[in-house]
Amino acid sequence: MDRVQSIIAANRERYLAEFQEFLAFPSVSGDAAGLTGAVAWVADRLRAAGAQVRVLPTGDGPDVVFGQVGAGPRSLLSYTHYDVQPADPLALWESPPFEATVRDGKLYARGASDDKGDTLARIQAVEVYRAAYGELPLRVKFFVEGEEETGSPHLAPLAEQYADLLRADGVLWEGGGFDEAERYTLYCGLKGIAYFELRVRGANRDLHSAYAPVAPNPAWRLVQALNTLKDAQDNITVDGFMEHVRPPTEAELAYIRRIPFAGAQMKANWGIPAFIDDMDDEAALVRFLTQPTCTICGLRSGFIDEGEKTVLPSNAMVKLDFRLVPDLTPELVADLLRGHLDRRGFDDIEIKSFVGMIGARSDMAATVVQAAIKAARAVYGHEPVVYPNHGGSGPMYSLVQGLGAPGGIMAGVGYADVRMHAPNENIRLDDYFRHIEFLVAFMQRFATG
Ligand SMILES: [Zn+2]
Repeated sequence: MDRVQSIIAANRERYLAEFQEFLAFPSVSGDAAGLTGAVAWVADRLRAAGAQVRVLPTGDGPDVVFGQVGAGPRSLLSYTHYDVQPADPLALWESPPFEATVRDGKLYARGASDDKGDTLARIQAVEVYRAAYGELPLRVKFFVEGEEETGSPHLAPLAEQYADLLRADGVLWEGGGFDEAERYTLYCGLKGIAYFELRVRGANRDLHSAYAPVAPNPAWRLVQALNTLKDAQDNITVDGFMEHVRPPTEAELAYIRRIPFAGAQMKANWGIPAFIDDMDDEAALVRFLTQPTCTICGLRSGFIDEGEKTVLPSNAMVKLDFRLVPDLTPELVADLLRGHLDRRGFDDIEIKSFVGMIGARSDMAATVVQAAIKAARAVYGHEPVVYPNHGGSGPMYSLVQGLGAPGGIMAGVGYADVRMHAPNENIRLDDYFRHIEFLVAFMQRFATG
C-alpha cells in the first residue's frame, strides 16, 4: 500500500460517516431546509479541508458554495452540485433515500452518485493530498451549485459575474465512472441544446373536414415546413446550419476509434434493424458524438384519439430539439431557423424558444484531459475509454470555454448500475475510495503536467 492508499484506509470509516451525514440532507429543489442545510455542510467541510470559502448568492435560487485551496501557478475548477432529484416513488426504495445504507459493499441513498459522491470525494481528496504530500501545488476551486437538477438557470450569469474568481486552467466536471464492461470512462465535452415550439394557426375553430377544399389546414402547413428542415438521408437542411459544424479533428477521431461500441447489441436492445442509412458502427459513433441533431420530440394537431373523426384542425404544434456542437449557439440556431422558414414563405409560423445551452468540447491535448488519462491509467490499471464528447447536453460551456479554459472533463465515482434519478441510487464503496486515489493522482499530474 502506498502513502495515499494508507491515508485513505486509515480514514475510511470517518469518510464514510461524513458521506452518510451529507446524504441525510433532503436537498431536493423546493426543500428549502434541505438545500440550506447542505450549503452550510459543504461550506464547513471545505473549510475543514483548508479552503477559503465564499457563499455566492444567486438571487432567487439556492446559493452556490465556492471554495479555494492550495497555491501554485495552475488552477483547477471542480464543478459539482449538492441538489438531488426527488426520491419518489418512495415505495420502490429498499431503504429510506435520505438514510444512507450500506448493503453488499454498496451505499444506497438519493445523491450517492448524483452528485454528493463526486462532491465529497473531491474535498476528501484535497485532504488526503495534503496529508500525503503537504500543501497542494495547484489552486483547486470548488464550485458546488444547488440547481443542476432544474437546469442550472443561474449558472451562465454567475459565471460571467464571477469570471475572475472562477476562471481556471482546466475544469473537472461531475459525472463519469465505470462503463458496463468495467472500463473507466472519461468524457471531454457535452453537447449544447436549443429547444423550440413551432405553431401554425388556421381557422378560429376546428372545422368540418368538408371545408378542406377552401380552408387552410395548419397540420399540412406544419408538415410542409418540417419537411424542409431535414432530407430523406436525415441530413439537417436548415439554411446555413451545417456550415457551423466543425469536422472532428484527427485527435478526436483517434480517441473515438478506440471507444468500444456495441452497435449490434444497441440495435437489438432498441428493436431496430439498422442505424439510419445503414451506417456501420464507426460511422454511427462518430455521428453520435460529433454531429448536431434536429429532432421532432412531439407533434400535436386535430383528432388523435382512437377511432375516426373527420375534422380540419385549427392549429398545429411541434416541439423540436437541436443538440448542438461548438459554434452552433442556441441564439444562432433560433436566427437560422427563423430565416430559413421566412425565406420559404413560412413567416406565419410562430417560434417559441426555450432556454438553451452552448456545447463544450475540449482540446484533446489540454493538460486537464491528458492528466486525467494518465491518472486513470495509473490508478485503475487499464487504458481509460475517452469520449471527446458526450451525446447528451449540459452547461459545461459556461465554466470552461466561456471562461477561456482549454478543456473540461467528466470523471466521477459512478458505474453502470448507479440508478441515477431512480429508486435505489447507489455507488460501490470500493469505487468511492479508489476514486479519491484517482483524484489525488489527477491533481498531481495536472499541477505538473
Ligand atoms: Zn448531476
